[in-house]
Amino acid sequence: MPQRVVILGAGFAGTAVARTLERRARPGEVAVTLVNRDNYTLFTPMLPEVSSGAVEPRHIAPPLRALLRTSQFEMGDVESVDLERRAVVVRNDKAARSSRLPYDHLVIALGAVTSTHGVPGADSHTFPLKTMDDAIAQRNETIRSLEAAATLDDDRERRAFLTFVVVGGGFTGVEAAGELLGFLRAAARFYPRVESHDLRVVLVAGGSRLLPQLPQSLGDGAAQMLAQRGVEVVFGDDAAAVDGGGVTLASGKRYDSKTVIWSAGIATPPLVAHMDVEHSKHHAIVVNPDLSVPKRPGVWAVGDCAQIPKPGGGFYPQTAQHALREAPVLARNLLATLRGRATKPFAYKTLGMMASIGGREGLADIRNRFTLTGLPAWLLWRAYYLSRLPGRFRKTRVALDWALSLPFPQDIASVQ
Ligand SMILES: Cc1cc2nc3c(=O)[nH]c(=O)nc-3n(C[C@H](O)[C@H](O)[C@H](O)COP(=O)(O)OP(=O)(O)OC[C@H]3O[C@@H](n4cnc5c(N)ncnc54)[C@H](O)[C@@H]3O)c2cc1C
Repeated sequence: MPQRVVILGAGFAGTAVARTLERRARPGEVAVTLVNRDNYTLFTPMLPEVSSGAVEPRHIAPPLRALLRTSQFEMGDVESVDLERRAVVVRNDKAARSSRLPYDHLVIALGAVTSTHGVPGADSHTFPLKTMDDAIAQRNETIRSLEAAATLDDDRERRAFLTFVVVGGGFTGVEAAGELLGFLRAAARFYPRVESHDLRVVLVAGGSRLLPQLPQSLGDGAAQMLAQRGVEVVFGDDAAAVDGGGVTLASGKRYDSKTVIWSAGIATPPLVAHMDVEHSKHHAIVVNPDLSVPKRPGVWAVGDCAQIPKPGGGFYPQTAQHALREAPVLARNLLATLRGRATKPFAYKTLGMMASIGGREGLADIRNRFTLTGLPAWLLWRAYYLSRLPGRFRKTRVALDWALSLPFPQDIASVQ
């Protein structure tokens, strides 16, 4: 009988585990079921470009049924995981049905959720940027704010609709702010009552620098490039409260804004945080170096929801780059366990980090040895991420989106 492998979450990690098992398992060795809330896997690095309209949503969302060859796919929300009886309950709302999936091996790859760190009002008055729905909602809200401003005569009211605040100085915040500014400037031509200088994008960095994951010089370079393009970067001040009219910072400074984008942190999904396994202080699942979960034979965890130890001490960062390398190691270790062989620890040297900040500018740190800024870094970002997007069809569609955005104006249709 094939061993039943259930994989929870079809992001970078879960999808790569399933695809590696398809390639490496012997015929009849495993029966894999991949469970995910959506029927596609999301290529998050291009999500800010969906918000800005540079890339069409479906082009960065390969459908799972087209990616998988022998694995089963089940669309639904994982409701509960019973680690004692070795079964998972998955709810499909459309079918109004919950199904129970028993497993021999369980792979937990449920990623992370946006965290507003308990900042009052942030949950209800900000737009996160983590899922496809988030990106589409953010884009529509931006366009609706422009439309609202175009109808108003009162200067103060208009300014609040034309001020966009992005909270978070990490990769997502920096990319979102850069893309947003580019979109607003290009869209302004359709709004005769909105001058380019009326538009304001404020990036609340929180700490004393941008992109703390990169060398200081690149963080400073990002701040400089964004400032030159017109983004106001606020250092050393945190968002303390958000309401329907704007953001108040810890210093008491206030930004009246109708659109606040939140990209200031992630957290472990509650379902994972409440599982009966060992957790890190951030509630991620503690795993052994081979990605198995301690004291839970047959249970594995990978990607953003796992705390993965580095050989020399410390833990691997939560990025797609790492999730994509962890997943094949997990799949090979799972098969080794089935075959009674020894598993191997995960070890990987980070390739580097890159950010695209719009306006054909970017930043790249390659293996902590070389740095690139401006157009070369932006081109490298585009070439690298295009190459990582699954499938030739989607690569071509995104390349065409980029090419068509050069001669043609921004699309400002607000479509759900
Ligand atoms: C805007 C943005 C830009 C980013 N840019 C980069 C970048 O340039 N480079 C980089 O390396 N990293 C980047 N990241 C980080 C990267 O997206 C994550 O590190 C990566 O997605 C982690 O992969 P994962 O498989 O662990 O989780 P995810 O990719 O988040 O996948 C988790 C999956 O589980 C599903 N899921 C969760 N809960 C349930 C449930 N209860 N039931 C069913 N399904 C569920 C989710 O829908 C999702 O499909 C970016 C992230 C964002 C948000």
